[in-house]
Formats: sequence, C-alpha cells, structure tokens
Amino acid sequence: DNSQPRKPRWIRVRAPAGKGYADTKRILRENRLVTVCEEAGCPNVGECWNQGHATMMIMGEICTRGCTFCNVATGRPDALDPFEPGRVAEAVRKLGLNHVVVTSVDRDDLEDGGAEHFAQTIRAIRHRSPGTTIEVLTPDFLRCPPAALETVVAARPDVFNHNLETVPALYPTVRPGARYFHSLRLLQRVKELDPAMFTKSGIMVGLGEDGQAVRQVMDDMRSADVDFLTIGQYLQPTPKHHGIDRFVTPDEFSAYEKAAWGKGFLMVSATPLTRSSYHAGSDFARLRAA
Ligand code: SF4
Ligand code: SF4
Repeated sequence: DNSQPRKPRWIRVRAPAGKGYADTKRILRENRLVTVCEEAGCPNVGECWNQGHATMMIMGEICTRGCTFCNVATGRPDALDPFEPGRVAEAVRKLGLNHVVVTSVDRDDLEDGGAEHFAQTIRAIRHRSPGTTIEVLTPDFLRCPPAALETVVAARPDVFNHNLETVPALYPTVRPGARYFHSLRLLQRVKELDPAMFTKSGIMVGLGEDGQAVRQVMDDMRSADVDFLTIGQYLQPTPKHHGIDRFVTPDEFSAYEKAAWGKGFLMVSATPLTRSSYHAGSDFARLRAA
C-alpha cells in the first residue's frame, strides 16, 4: 500500500547489534522463548536487548483474536506447555533482569483465558528471582468467569498492565472482538482487588483518532484508577495491517504527556517510539525510589 505516509525523521530505528543484544538473544533461544520484541518487529529491540530487557510472550505464537494492528498470527493455538513457566523463570534468572514484562496471546479457547498459566509464570519467576519486579501485560479475559482475573491478581505481580490500545470509536476496525468498557472495567477491578498493585495501560496514536478522544481516554483511565500511561506512534507491521493515518509529531506527544501528568498519572511515557514495555523497568525503579 504505497498510500502510506513516509516515515518522518523522528522514527529512527537503529540496527540491533552489540554483546548485550547477542547474549539476550542466545538465552531466549536456549529457553525456546517467544518475545513480543521480535513478534511485533519492535523498533526498540536493539536498545532493549542490549540492556537485557525483553518482553516475554507466553502461551504460544498463535492468537485467537485478530487485532488489525498486530503481527501475531490468528488461528487455533497449541496446547499450553506446562514447562513454559519454568523456562521463562530460568531465562529471567540468566538474564539477571531487574524488571520483567510478561505478556501473552489471547486464549479465548481456554476457559480461564490462561489466567492460571499466567499465575504460575509469576510464581516461578518470583521463586527463582525474588528481587525482580514483575509486570504482566494481560489479555482482556472477556468471556471468562471473574475468577480468571482474580487468579492473576492473587499471584501478585508488581505492575498489572492491560492496554486499551486505541480510542473507543476505533475499536471496530482496530480491536474487533474486544470491548472498550470491558477493558476499562478490568483495570478498575484490579485496583479494587489489590489497591497496592500498580496498574498501567496504553494506547497507540496515528490510527485516525483525534486529540480530544485521546484526552477522554486519559480521563477514563484515571476514573478507573490507572497509575501508569504509555502513548506511542502506531507503525504498520505489514501492508496488510491497519493503515497509518498519520505520524503524530513530537510536539503533539509532548502535549499529550503534559496533559497526562496534569491528570494525575504516576508515570507517563508519550513519545513516538514509546511501547507498552519500553523503559518499563527503569521508569518503575525510579518511581519506587522516589
Ligand atoms: Fe521489547 Fe518492549 Fe523493548 Fe520493544 S520496547 S524491544 S517490545 S521490551
Ligand atoms: Fe495481537 Fe494481542 Fe490482539 Fe492477539 S489479542 S491479535 S496478540 S494484540
């Protein structure tokens, strides 16, 4: 699709290289782990992996949903691997991570949406790396009983992240199969279940939303007591995916960031290359030290 706008100069991606990058890659391969960094073709992979930071994706490489921005394959997933939580925990230990982000595909085929597998992964990491802070980026558990979410929260991750991804008006074309208010309510429910747990959410911009709607999403998140916010530029993984409406300028990102701080978020990252897990560890460490 050559009607796509050209990448502006502020979307710069450095080619991955360096020893840290190679070490991270080796440890992930040895433990047969899937990362979002690779699956999503994330522009930050060189920087993150060099610093030993990666986002693990559990429960397979095939998703039951088909979000139009996402590069993960849609289909019938494989059975859960009961040894995966142990392998993730082993990789986290070997990588010596201070902070780990664990996410997954959606598993609408499982009654609990994979909640117990998430909980086992959290417990396995905690057991082998007690000093590592754990952030989960979960699916929406849309058709699951309430116990599913409760299972994940009870495993006590440090940060509970669930992305709203876009403004409500764009859900039918960007996130078909998801429901904006369900996702918002999920975030609020986490806080009700465990008020000490940090909650986090994020959206992509450049999909066709307007600034007013973005500010409304911020207000919605704060009404649900969401603590941390990420906003980044949407990049189209392949020509078959949702088109880029436009590149949001760095000045507009700064304005979003300023607005978000004003609304009371505890942590805000809003830059073109911000991703849900970008700098998640260092930002969280800074917050805890403050
Ligand atoms: Fe991986 Fe997140 Fe870093 Fe991208 S920003 S490379 S997904 S850890
Ligand atoms: Fe991708 Fe997640 Fe949507 Fe599945 S649910 S298609 S992994 S964004």
